Amino acid sequence: MASIEIPKSLLPADGRFGSGPSRIRDAQLDALAATGRTLLGTSHRAAPVRDLVADLQAGLAELYRLPEGYEVVLGLGGASVFWDTAAAALVEHRSQHVVIGEFSRKFARAASAPWLAAPDLREAEIGHGAACVPTEGVDLYGWPHNETSTGVQLPVTRVPADGALSVVDGTSAAGGTDVDPSQLDVYYFSPQKNMGSEGGLWVALMSPAAIERAERIAATDRFIPQALSLDGAIRNSRKHQTINTPAIATLFLLDQQVHWLLGNGGLPWADARTRETSDLVYDWAERDPRLAPFVSDPALRSQVVATVDLDERIPAAAVTDALRANGIVDVNGYRKLGRNQLRIGTFVAVPPEDVRQLLRSIDYVLDRLTD
Ligand SMILES: *Cc1c(COP(=O)(O)O)cnc(C)c1O
Repeated sequence: MASIEIPKSLLPADGRFGSGPSRIRDAQLDALAATGRTLLGTSHRAAPVRDLVADLQAGLAELYRLPEGYEVVLGLGGASVFWDTAAAALVEHRSQHVVIGEFSRKFARAASAPWLAAPDLREAEIGHGAACVPTEGVDLYGWPHNETSTGVQLPVTRVPADGALSVVDGTSAAGGTDVDPSQLDVYYFSPQKNMGSEGGLWVALMSPAAIERAERIAATDRFIPQALSLDGAIRNSRKHQTINTPAIATLFLLDQQVHWLLGNGGLPWADARTRETSDLVYDWAERDPRLAPFVSDPALRSQVVATVDLDERIPAAAVTDALRANGIVDVNGYRKLGRNQLRIGTFVAVPPEDVRQLLRSIDYVLDRLTD
């Protein structure tokens, strides 16, 4: 097939629309380069890096309007390692998990540990939502704010169960979708999605009840691998450090993004912007008979990861290959879902005009492929 050349006038200024790692703004990279010899290549136990971490923690506390007693805890390995950390050091006896896609399933798998009772799963078909249900004997309820593999966004409302923790995976939602932290005990995320940084770090906003739980379990005789010590992460975070050596660039880029968000109006601003950009995608998909939003319930459609099904006669790979040849990358669906689908990251770093141009570019490709 002859290659498709999208006219320059239709192309977005930046072609990165992935759902993670996602675009990092030029201003962040310029700021990183401007640190020269003062930050990268220096000790993470010395003032320049610890001051950076302290600034990041204060910025996140402000961005999330954290209630009294909540702490910003940092650890290495991303959200995936936070799951293992939670299984090792936060679940007391038994957890319950909403399982609505690949990421929420991975947390449930991590909690299927021999020292815990088998987790209680609340599953739904992909593309649909599910909710935790207060259950006797469950001491931790876990669900994703945004299931990145399917583009389903769930409400964040505390599970009314005395003494149990509400633990929310905010990985792709954090920094783009507003949330009330008093409705949860742990909001954890990796920073390479909406937070526009690099991978390898996890951040957890923790309530006093969650901190107390971690400290209590650490004081028992349960064996907790050192790298998965949540108590250790809490103690290090209070000193603006991590248990082992972090990627300083990741911390710096994240701090830049947090301050950019604060300067623009914080989470309410970010939330309005991702609502606008994701609505552009969903409205477009609803208008075109070749397309359909994958998530049928509009109330569950993600603001930050918009999934769109394509007519079976148009292979998604032909569309994404043509886009990639024109510099528009990473709009393929989540591989393991195996659907004929596009998945568009409408993270806060993606301006509405870029989304409009992306949709014009996709229209151009679809018209050529369906001629
Ligand atoms: C990407 C993602 C993860 C995994 O993050 P890693 O940094 O790769 O561990 C977990 N949960 C959600 C919702 C995600 O989008």
